[in-house]
Amino acid sequence: MPMGTGVRHAVVIGAGMAGLAAARVLADSFEAVTVVERDTLPSAPGPRAGVPQGHHVHGLLALGAEVFEGYFPGLRAELQQAGAPVWDWGEGLRAVLPGGSPPPVPMDMPTQTFSRPLLEHVLRRRVRALEPVTVRDGLTVTGLRTTGPGKVVGVRVKDGDSEDEIAADLVVDASGRSSRLPRWLAALGLPDPRKTTVDAQIGYASRTYSCPAGQSLPSWMGLLEPLRAPDFPRGCYAIRIEDDLLHVTLHAGGGTQPPHGDDDFLAFAKTLRGPIADTITSLTPASAVRRYARTLNQKTAYHRLPRWPDGLIALGDSVCTFNPAYGQGMTVAALEARLLEQMLRSRRTRTPLDGHAFQKRLARVTAFSWLMATIPDRAWAQSHPAWPVKAGNWFMNRLIDTVPHDPKVYTAFSSLFHMTAGPLTLADPRVLSRVLIGPRPSGNLRTTTA
Ligand SMILES: Cc1cc2nc3c(=O)[nH]c(=O)nc-3n(C[C@H](O)[C@H](O)[C@H](O)COP(=O)(O)OP(=O)(O)OC[C@H]3O[C@@H](n4cnc5c(N)ncnc54)[C@H](O)[C@@H]3O)c2cc1C
Repeated sequence: MPMGTGVRHAVVIGAGMAGLAAARVLADSFEAVTVVERDTLPSAPGPRAGVPQGHHVHGLLALGAEVFEGYFPGLRAELQQAGAPVWDWGEGLRAVLPGGSPPPVPMDMPTQTFSRPLLEHVLRRRVRALEPVTVRDGLTVTGLRTTGPGKVVGVRVKDGDSEDEIAADLVVDASGRSSRLPRWLAALGLPDPRKTTVDAQIGYASRTYSCPAGQSLPSWMGLLEPLRAPDFPRGCYAIRIEDDLLHVTLHAGGGTQPPHGDDDFLAFAKTLRGPIADTITSLTPASAVRRYARTLNQKTAYHRLPRWPDGLIALGDSVCTFNPAYGQGMTVAALEARLLEQMLRSRRTRTPLDGHAFQKRLARVTAFSWLMATIPDRAWAQSHPAWPVKAGNWFMNRLIDTVPHDPKVYTAFSSLFHMTAGPLTLADPRVLSRVLIGPRPSGNLRTTTA
């Protein structure tokens, strides 16, 4: 978009979940929105290099599903048409917890499961159909275009050997975990933003399975066997997805290694307490095993920088990433887009967005998810965690240990997990009393060693 055309133009760096959600809300406020994506985007659902996590189970929490449905009405039906099952979390999930498995209980919590490439494909198609939006793929953003240190006026891009610039009134960095924004800000004379990292050293190994004729897929729609420091270093998350496939992620924490390949995938599954090994024995592998190990929680404190250039914001994994075992990333990306929408709507027409204020409010949006992920992860990452972390873990463990024995506590915990309720849901006396003085788990089954 040439400068001086008078058209208000936003550029989004990255066509991942955060970039697509941001493009959707920007399309309501800007006359033109360009999404610049480094990968050449596939025309059908499929994995791509820029999103290596796409090979692994991606659960969308109920709150995230609700927000995305609001932005893309009919999304759930469209995914369902593409084969993504919808089921009730309480009835369809088999949870294998340290204290046992809760019996199925209706929760009225619709859950839809699919592969990340399918969700991204459907969202991308919907975003592309928005009039102001252009998606330019196969183009890498290499830096910011500025007028002095205080104002960003576009991006520099590279397509093979040719370099170019795109002018913009607002640049949105949604380039994910490998964002180069700190480096670009340093070129503007800004100090390095503080990064906080909590790394539970969790490794993922995933593959999909199909069902041979004469066999049936399991009766459960999702299987969750979470990790818990220090006694449960192995776990799994499996979901039924489109094309009648079962997507299985095996994970390991605290330095324990996930399986490396096809040969030890089943062997690792056999060390778990839940039914995953029995299930996959009767199914046919439909993909190779893929591994992923960059699962640390990391937040970059852009909101604490002494100044921030006009015409720029950052969101999604580029600012705050979570250990994916808690399934929060896509939902938080949706909430950040909602924040952007609120801030765009509340300003006077054509008044520039206050980028620094956006980063400060975004830090508040991520705060709860950050605690939910890092309190248990600090138990892996630190041998002597501080007392608030110990207290938080003590309470969370009691809560999880009560879940198998009490449907009300199970429902409250599920709402918290799906972010449809805040922590106050645990203050309900009926829930709190059961957690604090309720029955103890019947037995602490440790994961066996491989
Ligand atoms: C193993 C794993 C499992 C996960 N499981 C879940 C889950 O169950 N539930 C959940 O909600 N979340 C999950 N997540 C998190 C989720 O993937 C992200 O939080 C979410 O996709 C938001 O990411 P994003 O859009 O910020 O970044 P991404 O989705 O990573 O997208 C970033 C995009 O930017 C592009 N890009 C990067 N640099 C440039 C550049 N210079 N120029 C142009 N384009 C660029 C990339 O190619 C990519 O397309 C998981 C993550 C991992 C690693």
